[in-house]
Amino acid sequence: MTTRTIAYPDLSSYIGGTWTRGSGTEEVTVLNPATGTELGAVPLGINDDFVAALDAADAAFGSWRRTSPTTRAEILRRAAAIMRARASELADLITVELGKPTREARVEVVTAAEHIEWAAEEGRRGYGRDIPARTPRTVQTVRREPLGPIAGFAPWNAPLITPARKIAYVLAAGCTLVLKPSEETPGCALALVRAFEEAGLPEGVLNAIFGKPESVSTYLLSDSRVKGVTFTGSTGVGRALASLAAPSMKRLILELGGNAPVIINADVDVKAVAESAVRATYRNAGQICTSPSRFLIHDSIHDDFVQAFTQSARTLVVGNGLDERTDMGPVANEQRVAAMAMLTEDARRRGIDIPLGGHRIGEAGSFWSPTLLAGVDDECLISNAEPFGPMASTRPFHSLDEAIAVANRLPVGLASYVWTNSLSDATRLLDEIEAGSVVVNRWQASLPETPFGGYDDSGVGTEGGIEGVSAFQRIKYTSFAA
Ligand code: NAD
Repeated sequence: MTTRTIAYPDLSSYIGGTWTRGSGTEEVTVLNPATGTELGAVPLGINDDFVAALDAADAAFGSWRRTSPTTRAEILRRAAAIMRARASELADLITVELGKPTREARVEVVTAAEHIEWAAEEGRRGYGRDIPARTPRTVQTVRREPLGPIAGFAPWNAPLITPARKIAYVLAAGCTLVLKPSEETPGCALALVRAFEEAGLPEGVLNAIFGKPESVSTYLLSDSRVKGVTFTGSTGVGRALASLAAPSMKRLILELGGNAPVIINADVDVKAVAESAVRATYRNAGQICTSPSRFLIHDSIHDDFVQAFTQSARTLVVGNGLDERTDMGPVANEQRVAAMAMLTEDARRRGIDIPLGGHRIGEAGSFWSPTLLAGVDDECLISNAEPFGPMASTRPFHSLDEAIAVANRLPVGLASYVWTNSLSDATRLLDEIEAGSVVVNRWQASLPETPFGGYDDSGVGTEGGIEGVSAFQRIKYTSFAA
């Protein structure tokens, strides 16, 4: 086990270019989920702080929207370069705040930097178009303009990538941002904000505040100066934010939960797919909205798959993520442990086979063993609720019609996966699975250059891709006659 000590940063808010502890008196303790020990305490802001942050974002918008996209891109690229230079320090911070193994955390730092670089370049391509007029000497154009100040809310499960996505696309679009990162992983988000400050971002363009989540969103979303909301988190909170945003018709970008189906045909190399599935399932202890979770497996290979998966998962080293040997760290908090216990208990009560895990590990820290619930049905809790933890389920199917019906039976549709060597089955599944991403024979559901978003209860709008910047812009039609 490692004995490395990690320097933990100050957790002030950043408002109008100034670091401040705000006007509140309450704090939230930040815990290391691998040890249960205290890392620090984040001061919670109150209304005065939220007002100051929005005033700053509003005041900065006038000049930031007129700053050339090339200059904006230079600042964003500088911030990304600072992050890359600090990759190992940032990776350690992710590990102590979230528990993710440092090996995986290094990948998160690079991906976060790539989002910023992608947005920087896309921001320079804010093309409009010229529409042929019906009369001579008449010009008709379409241009994209930044929306205005945006309110952003980021969760804890990708503590660098998610705030980086919010900041990068909003700023590249010419908008300003008031960001409320998760109070569970504040250090990561603030390290990102520091990189932008050092990169020369003008004051007020980016503000980071903490507070009671509901108070922050109620204040920001009731102010008509906020023109858009970008949120990543659960469907329930997404729905609440959408209602708050409705009276003033704010733009919504909501990245919500999933419960990703994986359809595995009989024609695959069962052992190879099972082994790769283990790595994908337990990455970040399963706390990714695109984590494969509902394995639908052809009945002729179901039992072989379960056996190969279980055998491979038993080799995973679970422990403190700072240890380079660790494959899977703790879950983020005790609420996730309780959620895993509830899903397991429900399966036990129904007599579902649990060939792997199904229990907490140790007394210290929030560890749950990699778990598989085999042969579930529609009634099981895990078939209906996103596990968002180190847990997946399997279910045999006989026909592709049946697999498609089960894959599409939930109101969520974020990521989905297919494993097959049949071109015709793959083509059919790409057409018929209802989800924002359908991925065949790989596990990569999103990259900076690809749009990422969900169907139905999984969200509204997309992040990333060429759509990532235009999400925060609006269309103006202009016309004049000479
Ligand atoms: P949550 O939705 O309650 O919280 C996510 C984030 O939103 C947190 O940082 C929280 O501070 C903030 N938040 C909560 N209530 C808010 C409010 N009223 N106004 C503004 N911000 C608010 O999720 P959770 O309970 O922390 O995580 C568990 C569930 O959330 C999972 O089951 C999963 O479905 C979902 N989740 C999804 C993602 C994703 O990437 N799509 C990320 C995190 C959580």
